[in-house]
Amino acid sequence: MLCETRGLCEIMNMNDFGKVFLVGAGPGDPGLITVRGLELVRTADVIVHDQLGAPAFLAMAKPGAELIDAGKRSGDHTLPQNDINSLLVVRAKAGKLVVRLKGGDPLVFGRGGEEMDELHRAGIPFEVVPGVTSAIAGPAYAGIPITHRSCTPALAIVTGHEADGKGASNIPWSSLAGIGTVVFLMGVKTLASIARHLIEAGKPAETPVAVIERATSPLQRTVTGILSDIDSKAREAGIKPPALIVVGDVVRYREQLAWFEKRPLFGRTIVVTRARAQASDLSAALRARGADVIECPTIQIEPLSPNPEFDAFIENHKEYNDLVFTSVNGVDGFVSGLVERGRDLRVLAGKRIVCIGPATADAFRTRGIMPDAIPETYVAESLLPLFERRIPGRVAVLRAEQAREMLPDALRKIGYSVDVIPLYRTIYGKPDTTILVDALRSGRVDAVTFTSSSTVERFLEALDGTGIGPGSIPGVAIGPVTAETCRERGVKLVGMSGEHTIPGLVSKLDELLSNKTDEGGLR
Ligand code: SAH
Repeated sequence: MLCETRGLCEIMNMNDFGKVFLVGAGPGDPGLITVRGLELVRTADVIVHDQLGAPAFLAMAKPGAELIDAGKRSGDHTLPQNDINSLLVVRAKAGKLVVRLKGGDPLVFGRGGEEMDELHRAGIPFEVVPGVTSAIAGPAYAGIPITHRSCTPALAIVTGHEADGKGASNIPWSSLAGIGTVVFLMGVKTLASIARHLIEAGKPAETPVAVIERATSPLQRTVTGILSDIDSKAREAGIKPPALIVVGDVVRYREQLAWFEKRPLFGRTIVVTRARAQASDLSAALRARGADVIECPTIQIEPLSPNPEFDAFIENHKEYNDLVFTSVNGVDGFVSGLVERGRDLRVLAGKRIVCIGPATADAFRTRGIMPDAIPETYVAESLLPLFERRIPGRVAVLRAEQAREMLPDALRKIGYSVDVIPLYRTIYGKPDTTILVDALRSGRVDAVTFTSSSTVERFLEALDGTGIGPGSIPGVAIGPVTAETCRERGVKLVGMSGEHTIPGLVSKLDELLSNKTDEGGLR
């Protein structure tokens, strides 16, 4: 059996040859790939991909999968079509499960038909996994219902590639003039000819038109006009491919129905600097609200091993009355440390568990442990009142290796015996900052989120040598300590969350940047 995934081989009934799957990746929003498409991306031995929409999926390929960029741009062929065809054949003959990942639907102007022909001729088994075409999804995301019942009984999807009349054009202009909704792909360069041909064929010059650039992505832009002025409007706006054109009365609905572009953070670019493992909640919340999120993980979390302080804590755990946890990472490190040592959560029995904030408390709740106390504001200082006016006992503060000594010192001052037990450390790698630096230079970054002082420091270090100074970074801090570090380091602090949590930070960004507030927000 040559295929690496035995189950799949059986399902596919493979013999010596592998198999090629022509998979539609959807138009750009990674959520628009099909379940079957994603399953194949995850199991493929080889992925041959185009540029549109692929990066999000390549990260999901299995380790060791061969990733080949066959991306083509008009006039800039990375791999000629013949080479792509033969590549698919060669890899499949070597017994590989090959995914040919194509933008939108593989058979809508995707040259998937030619690839199927070639595979058929070579006797290679193949399957097609349709995708959501940009011709349908693009208008949908621009708030245009392409076949609204009151407008048209028909829809045409046309390539604009041949519309300039330079080569032989097979476009049936007079038929198209009679169809209520016509969608053109690959038509940015030939937009003027498209409009002229349609008007000449009898379409009224006042017919509404929309041009949708980078549809379904956070950078989607839509320009509307009528047949006679759409070309100059699109030029003025600097529309570039990939973009699609919708011609027809249905475009009028957009004014009320543009749901995607009306989301609160649409059009905003926000940088997330948390460790990759922790960034997902924040990034997902911001993306769901429409923001273009650039992740620049400045720190990574690493468990401490060996950890003699934790060994000693477990040995003597009966002596502690109070345990203080200051982060989700602390709770995660505590639980995995226990398990590694063959112990379990019963060591918590009879102790008061104090958590710095709701996320830390939730890390216990999801494990079936109810914390006893959470302060009213979520900074180390506000933990103190929870310890005053009690008979001082022995406290363990379970936290990162490097952290402020404020809390342990203050507890000692009021009579507690305090042991600091480190559970993890943050390590600093140099992140890839290409996209980030471009975005900062072009002035399109609206906010850089900082969730701890170390993210501020590491972020500035990552920008060393780029010529981007702290004063041009619009920082939004999760709380007062992080805000203070921003100020000390010269970051242009534009906001601080009222509640010092990730949801609090998201609300703050909403308040600062929401499209519903005064036009312009922070810009
Ligand atoms: N198979 C693809 C189309 C390939 S042709 C599909 O089904 O969507 C490439 C053209 O598709 C581009 O020139 C552009 O007109 C259109 N296109 C693809 N993705 C797009 C996107 N995200 N936004 C706007 N147009 C897009």
